[in-house]
Amino acid sequence: MSANIKVDENDSGETEPVQNLTDGFHLLIDALKANDLNTIYGVPGIPITDFGRLAQASGMRVLSFRHEQHAGNAAAIAGYLTQKPGLCLTVSAPGFLNGLTALANATTNCFPMILISGSSEREIVDLQQGDYEEMDQLAIAKPMCKAAYRVLHAEDIGIAVARAIRSAVSGRPGGVYLDLPAKLFGQVIDADTGAMSIVKVIDPAPAQWPGQDAVERALSVIKSAKKPLIILGKGAAYAQADEAIRHFVETSGIPYLPMSMAKGLLPDTHPQSAGAARSLALKESDVVIMVGARLNWLLSHGKGKSWGEPGSKRFVQIDIEPREMDSNVEIAAPLVGDIASVMSSLAAGMTSNWPKPPAEWLNAINEKRDANLARMAPKLDGNEVPMNFHTALGALKNIIKERPETMLVNEGANTLDFARSIIDMYQPRKRLDVGTWGVMGIGMGAAIAAAVETGLPVLAVEGDSAFGFSGMEVETICRYQLPVCIVIFNNNGIYRGTDVNPTGGAEAAPTVFVKNARYDKMMEAFGGIGISAETRDELTKAVNDALDSGKPTLINAVIDENAGTESGRIGNLNPQSVVSKK
Ligand code: ADP
Ligand code: MG
Repeated sequence: MSANIKVDENDSGETEPVQNLTDGFHLLIDALKANDLNTIYGVPGIPITDFGRLAQASGMRVLSFRHEQHAGNAAAIAGYLTQKPGLCLTVSAPGFLNGLTALANATTNCFPMILISGSSEREIVDLQQGDYEEMDQLAIAKPMCKAAYRVLHAEDIGIAVARAIRSAVSGRPGGVYLDLPAKLFGQVIDADTGAMSIVKVIDPAPAQWPGQDAVERALSVIKSAKKPLIILGKGAAYAQADEAIRHFVETSGIPYLPMSMAKGLLPDTHPQSAGAARSLALKESDVVIMVGARLNWLLSHGKGKSWGEPGSKRFVQIDIEPREMDSNVEIAAPLVGDIASVMSSLAAGMTSNWPKPPAEWLNAINEKRDANLARMAPKLDGNEVPMNFHTALGALKNIIKERPETMLVNEGANTLDFARSIIDMYQPRKRLDVGTWGVMGIGMGAAIAAAVETGLPVLAVEGDSAFGFSGMEVETICRYQLPVCIVIFNNNGIYRGTDVNPTGGAEAAPTVFVKNARYDKMMEAFGGIGISAETRDELTKAVNDALDSGKPTLINAVIDENAGTESGRIGNLNPQSVVSKK
């Protein structure tokens, strides 16, 4: 888009175009659109307010948030869902820093996004002369993301956007920072020169095939296994190689465990799912095939008690990042490449009469799984008032079963842990949660991006504490009339609502909130639907109504304040003083 910028004044004081010109604003829009990046999540302000207006005028979707962190989380989830970098736009210094949390989180999770931030003038920042919102943003961003670039000349915008896209999506995906000083936006250049500077990135994430020797090594390790196990991670979900993964799982006959965001890659009700026999599968397996999952804290680093006898495992690991191999334990068969290519190489080496794992192993897993599911079932059917985590989640489990296309967002401590194991997922990339850091605050950003990117109904299942981090974005949800239903598991506090001030003083204990708060009223303030649900039937009806109507809805689900455990499932990471409890 060239702007017919008028630069000459005639005698009557009117301006006339003398040359076809463009500027930084328009070149950035052209560069993004040329690469099919058409949605921006951000917060307007100096110096990017006009950019947002011009972008919207050009037909881009520009979604304004109330806080940059949530715009950034939305961009990250957009990247995860689409394999194109999600765009987040922020103002300088404080806005940039707010967005940076999301950029670092995206990088940690291997989600592609680009944080585009306006910044103050280089000359003043570098001499530290105290500019408006002065900050050396490029230097600060660098260690937090995969790549960081600054653009000083308008004719470099095209190539900078191309570099940013390629950096975000090629190899292991991640976050990229693009620093655009205020002056750049107004820089004027010849429109034809500008048009020629736009780069359309060809094949931004090239296929990476594993070597044939690596494929053969992996197949021979898999074939030798007596108790094989597949672990699917969110890298497998990101790869959008759903059919190839299903083919590998089913041809091999090997039981699999999905990491939380890989749930639904195959339905959780699949006969080979070992989800409900997780402990046994990890402990007893002899060969573990990691597919787009890291042996980080979420898998106890691949060692220790939960992994059984030391030396009892051999690992096959499929990952696009070579340095992931041997990060925590020895990898017997590294398969470096993108999951689609690796899966097709493995398939080529696996005949249809590929030997199935020994029946003894499959039976052991199935028995354990069935016993665990049978033990859990009655808890999920309860009708207690007030509700507890199991009864409320039992209701939501049934709803997702009937509506498997729903995008599920989930955060909290107990609300997260219980929902992850209780709510079955049936389709790929439908579950969005706290990810690699286990971070609170992704909720509303993820819910907004899920609605915007997929057009599907969204159910956000939130602890009352977790919701608080991004709660103001309910206004954003109402403003854009997004089909988002938020259910808040309100147990009056963090972990539980029952702590009291040990001094006997009136000041509230650090983990409790206002008792019997009515979060539903927040939604009504912005014209959305707010409902307080005290029983399972009320909850079920309210969620079904919301998903049917597509209207922004917030349901305050009243949960027993005694329900819940300290830090949920990861209480072991929260040091407790024994001295103070004497
Ligand atoms: P989870 O938390 O579900 O276990 P992680 O985020 O720990 O998943 O791991 C995801 C892994 O997937 C990362 O190591 C990343 O490099 C890898 N990955 C991402 N995309 C691809 C892809 N297209 N092909 C192969 N590996 C990928
Ligand atoms: Mg709570």
